[in-house]
Amino acid sequence: MKRKVVFVIYCVGLVIALLYRGRLTKAFALMTDQNLKGTVIVLDAGHGGNDPGAIVSGQDEDEINLDLVLKLADYLERAGAEVRLTRSDDVDLSDEGVSNIKRSDMAHRAEILNAEDVTLFISIHCNTSGDQRCQGSQVYYRINDKISQKLADTIQLQLKEATGSKYIPASGDFYLLNETDNLGVLVEVGFLTNSYDLTQLKTEDYREELAFSIYKGISQFLEKLF
Ligand SMILES: [Zn+2]
Repeated sequence: MKRKVVFVIYCVGLVIALLYRGRLTKAFALMTDQNLKGTVIVLDAGHGGNDPGAIVSGQDEDEINLDLVLKLADYLERAGAEVRLTRSDDVDLSDEGVSNIKRSDMAHRAEILNAEDVTLFISIHCNTSGDQRCQGSQVYYRINDKISQKLADTIQLQLKEATGSKYIPASGDFYLLNETDNLGVLVEVGFLTNSYDLTQLKTEDYREELAFSIYKGISQFLEKLF
């Protein structure tokens, strides 16, 4: 009887350990991370408010972007970074009554990303394509910016491990990369127009994995930098 009880306790313990293994590994990594301490990271969730971004099969891009940013912010803060968000809700940053909402919104985002004490920034978006086979995450860096390219390389490597994305980082002609001087990249986390990516992006677990991969990429980049 006693041996039976011990066996049951052992089995329950094993199941709990297996269930929480991933979380424990993450918690340990975050707790022991020395690379983020003293850094200021700005996270930009693309779109929001008046601008939902891409809408595919009823899924708004801005919702996924924000959820990913909040998850990433949590990891970065737990690792010791000061995190600033361009938005933490379904809003845009445009001034009231302006005729060009998008321009006003983007200008305010660029201002926040470009603050003097910012270590680096990450802008999060979802991609779309006319070719539904296009699938996977891709990181974009500022044209002719070697250091941003390095950051993109490190994050892309982690995303490749987590998602199997076959893309390599690319330089991109994006407003937020062009209109800022601070180190930063734009991450297109997946294609809403690809059924696999869309299904995955809708799941909490996948978004957690994406956020953790981006955190790991940032941490590894900072480790090499300093
Ligand atoms: Zn977007």
